[in-house]
Amino acid sequence: MTDSSPIRVAVIGSGPAGFYTAGHLLKDASAEFEVDMLERLPTPWGLVRSGVAPDHPKIKSVTRIYEKTAAHPRFRYFGNVELGRDISREDLLEHYHAIVYATGSSVDRPLGIDGEELSGSHPATEFVGWYNGHPDYSALELDLQSAERAVVIGNGNVAIDVARMLCLTREELACTDIADHALEVLEHSRVNEIVIVGRRGPAQAAFTTPELLELGELSDADVIVDPDELERALAIPDPSATPTAERNVQILRDYAARPPAGRRRRIVLRFLLSPAALIPGEDGRLAAIELVRNELVADADGRLRAQPTAERERIDAGLVFRAIGYRGVPLPGVPFDERGGVIPNADGRVLDPSSGTSLPGEYVVGWIKRGPSGVIGTNKKDAQQTVDAIIADVAAPANGRARLLAPASPDPAAVETVLRARQPAVVTYAGWAEIDRHERALGEASGRPRVKLTQIDEMLRIAASEVPSA
Ligand code: NAP
Repeated sequence: MTDSSPIRVAVIGSGPAGFYTAGHLLKDASAEFEVDMLERLPTPWGLVRSGVAPDHPKIKSVTRIYEKTAAHPRFRYFGNVELGRDISREDLLEHYHAIVYATGSSVDRPLGIDGEELSGSHPATEFVGWYNGHPDYSALELDLQSAERAVVIGNGNVAIDVARMLCLTREELACTDIADHALEVLEHSRVNEIVIVGRRGPAQAAFTTPELLELGELSDADVIVDPDELERALAIPDPSATPTAERNVQILRDYAARPPAGRRRRIVLRFLLSPAALIPGEDGRLAAIELVRNELVADADGRLRAQPTAERERIDAGLVFRAIGYRGVPLPGVPFDERGGVIPNADGRVLDPSSGTSLPGEYVVGWIKRGPSGVIGTNKKDAQQTVDAIIADVAAPANGRARLLAPASPDPAAVETVLRARQPAVVTYAGWAEIDRHERALGEASGRPRVKLTQIDEMLRIAASEVPSA
């Protein structure tokens, strides 16, 4: 590598963290970075496409920023390429000066209780992926006909998304980019009560305020909070309560004081209850959930945690959605911290678990770096930290150790040849643009932003109709 030769970076994953990383690198003037982004699916944007709820189109408009990054002449997109299936970490080491893992947290955290796998019990990841048309979940069979009550476990924004999506009317959903299959099933849903269960109190809930407020504005659902349970759960003051928590408590007190308006559905917010077991009915399907009542006790550091009491409660429910957080999955050959579900790192530099020192040229960003927390914008700052580490490593004297990789074959054409040999159906950015045009055109006919393709084969067929650039 000479001083003027470009620094070739592979970014693995095309969600917000990956795109902010690419954007920061391409804007940097201290070196000439070239970015190749590899994505497992044909389509980019990660959770902006497959996580953000369909009725939140404003949040999705962040993709306009990513589109600008994608248009940069030193950026290339290779969709439908999976690390570990089509290309290995060793291959990347041969072709790039730096690798940035931006693969997110794609699986649910298990509850670890009896009955978790019963028919009718679903991780929120499945439901969210299903209504958003993620190809991995398009075949999910969700029975919203047999049960009238659903229980959602967890007090985060995903729990709120799940509950809200179960309450929106056909009219409210039909103008969004919700997957067609989900629109059909949700329209005919017979679920009329959704109980959201938090293991701690309202002041410890992870909800953000706009999301909690939105529940109270639903056209087709009343929000029910029992004032006695609410005040019991607030009896112990939380010294670490944030301003958000204080606003949330006020909103919940307002809900508790509100008489139900007799809407078609109800969202009931419960506190200080942990799931103990999921109980099958005679047909073997989920019939009820057993919960244990908790009390709040302060840890040595003052944090309030849930401690089980002897009191139990049973709620009949044919559906349970577990929304207790996501986990990252290990990437072949890349260090992984099983406990945290993340890639071990210091400020974005991947750490070798045996020595605790950073591995040359390997970096991490987003949820697979810090765990599943924060909103989309959080990833911008997070990506800057990782990019600062890369820039410092480019500039740093080697100290006797290379800080970046020394690829045997850094030529951009060489890696493209390898990628295309391993995965002939690579989807370039032009291929994605074709899918995007197709989906928008399908949507236009019915006044929707797009109709999502949910099958990989179909995406590949449409992407293949891209006009090859001269
Ligand atoms: P989260 O915010 O971490 O919430 C997880 C919830 O699950 C917490 O209430 C947690 O309670 C509870 N929990 C964890 N383990 C549990 C257990 N064993 N039993 C019962 N409850 C348990 O996670 P999330 O809802 O998956 O959201 C992930 C991130 O995406 C968050 O940063 C969120 O804000 C973001 N997000 C944002 C939006 C939006 O902006 N509209 C939408 C969706 C997601 P404890 O606090 O007691 O651990």
